[in-house]
Amino acid sequence: MSNPHAIDRVFAAIDAAEDEMVSFTSEMIRIPTVNPPGDAYVECAEFIGRRLVECDFAVDYPVAEGRPEHTPQHPRMNVVGLRRGRSDRPLVHLNGHFDVVPAGNGWTVDPFGGEVKNGRIYGRGTCDMKAGITAAIYAAEAIRRAGVPLHGSVEISGTVDEESGGFAGMAYLAQQGRVSADRTDAVIITEPTNTDRIYIGHRGVYWFEVITRGRIAHGSMPFLGANAIEHMGVILDRIRRVLMPVLQSRTTAVPVKPDGARHATLNINGIAGGQPVDGIQTPCVADICRAIFDRRFLAEEGFDATRAEIVDLLETAARETPELLFELRDLMIVHPVKTPDGASVVASLERSVQQVLGRPVLLAASPGTYDHKHVDRIAGVPNCVAYGPGILDLAHQPDEYCDIADLMHSTKVLALSLLELTGTTAV
Ligand SMILES: [Zn+2]
Repeated sequence: MSNPHAIDRVFAAIDAAEDEMVSFTSEMIRIPTVNPPGDAYVECAEFIGRRLVECDFAVDYPVAEGRPEHTPQHPRMNVVGLRRGRSDRPLVHLNGHFDVVPAGNGWTVDPFGGEVKNGRIYGRGTCDMKAGITAAIYAAEAIRRAGVPLHGSVEISGTVDEESGGFAGMAYLAQQGRVSADRTDAVIITEPTNTDRIYIGHRGVYWFEVITRGRIAHGSMPFLGANAIEHMGVILDRIRRVLMPVLQSRTTAVPVKPDGARHATLNINGIAGGQPVDGIQTPCVADICRAIFDRRFLAEEGFDATRAEIVDLLETAARETPELLFELRDLMIVHPVKTPDGASVVASLERSVQQVLGRPVLLAASPGTYDHKHVDRIAGVPNCVAYGPGILDLAHQPDEYCDIADLMHSTKVLALSLLELTGTTAV
């Protein structure tokens, strides 16, 4: 961008749109797109689509036909808007997921009320990430209202199911070639990154299930059986004593934020064994116990070594414990992702954040996974980051909110980078 007056006009257009942006976000919050199961997706896709049409986008609604989670009760409908500039390329794609996790307990406001108070918009999905969808749309719209013709093109998508893996959402768009190296030059996912961070990837994920099988016997004579819950206890004890300190000692060179997530981690998602605890009890030795684990691994660890370490732990426990029998089932594997050094989307956002906020950007990697993996692996567009309004730590918490000031700042950052990444220099 060579013309500072054009930038001033774009920023003025964003400032002038504040009330519109806040009410658009509030209205989105009032559409309860809760996942699971995937409620109100069509309503929300069409709501976003109508606004994109008003902002001069050509809009269509890719529906994830053939995916098992796409059902008549819960159709998986995405929305994509394209606004061509003078040239098809460079094409910059801004993406946000509009599904939200369930509200949960502990709210002091209506989680689906879209309440605005104290300079904040409250509600489930405000920062994660309906405010980010607003920022994407109004970054592009402010450029249009300022009368600045884009050189390249801008595409904005609202997608489903990010919270449950994104297979009917961003992964589907990538599989259909809607986001692909053949047409897409840069992708910014407007997830909450505290306004001054750029997320350049995430750790790997290995979800697995361990099943221990024992032998049923009369509960008054447990020595005649083998208790599968006790055997799971042996495994859990070994994880706590032996594995956890090792994981904690490993640190990645990738700048994962918060700092605690720079280490390898393991969470126990759930456990069930023996008789259902709220059923009628009979005197039986538990013959089965199942537990689900969530292991987040570092790029330096790699998946193969991560899995081998679990196998070794289970085999050692089995060797040292009479009758301990186990099965290991892989449930989900996501390899770590990292935006390559020198990616134009990173350099551009670094400049834009500095210009808007007057401070340097923090490059960070996410503790959890998000749709970046599909953009990188399926679409083949490594020039991808997450950047958007809101505080990541508030995601999935009660009283989730987004500061309106954050929303305004990050919309300006996105507008600047849209101009630069679409090659819009002469205005
Ligand atoms: Zn999110």
